[in-house]
Amino acid sequence: MGKISCKNYGFDCKFEVDSSESDAINRFQKHSMVVHGIEYSSGTLSQIVMRIKN
Ligand SMILES: [Zn+2]
Repeated sequence: MGKISCKNYGFDCKFEVDSSESDAINRFQKHSMVVHGIEYSSGTLSQIVMRIKN
């Protein structure tokens, strides 16, 4: 299991969510919106989570 972390996407930010959490996508999506002003689509994030898990 991995983590989705902002750092991996070029942000100087310590936020990360455990990809095993069921609401990981929602939490990361909300964080990106609120803190970085970037709106990831759920599809994009699903692909990211799948890549981490495999
Ligand atoms: Zn962040």
